[in-house]
Amino acid sequence: MENCIFCKIVAGEIPAEKIYEDNETFAFLDIHPVNPGHTLVIPKHHSFNILDIPPEDWAAVAKTVHKLAKPIHDALGADGINLHMNNREHAGQVVDHPHVHLIPRFKGDGLPHWHGKAYKEGESKIVADKIKAAVQ
Ligand code: AMP
Ligand code: ZN
Repeated sequence: MENCIFCKIVAGEIPAEKIYEDNETFAFLDIHPVNPGHTLVIPKHHSFNILDIPPEDWAAVAKTVHKLAKPIHDALGADGINLHMNNREHAGQVVDHPHVHLIPRFKGDGLPHWHGKAYKEGESKIVADKIKAAVQ
């Protein structure tokens, strides 16, 4: 896709620190890492995010994420690893090509965890019913 920086990385038109590549996916170091080793896994075919990626591309991304998580964790002597994906602008998506972040974590690295809210009485059932009705 023209003007997509991640498609350009796949095509070799923009440099990247490649970690892994197969027929369907590409993995490279994030240029502004949360911690050293922060890696992005992307499908080679362009789409926007989890909301439109074809299931076969997502399956390939998931397989590569699984393949790389332990090597990244172990090679860097990490104390844990986060998998993260931003989908759409208000969820923090900046690059409009699906990408899963693999973020090695270190004791005391200071990255805050999100703060959960409480459901009101009866609210969780309403919410669950809405989602279940939308699942095909
Ligand atoms: P997101 O907010 O989930 O869309 O994350 C986009 C990520 O892409 C950010 O963490 C950026 O640091 C990273 N990024 C943007 N441009 C490049 C690039 N040319 N090479 C590597 N990572 C990049
Ligand atoms: Zn793209």
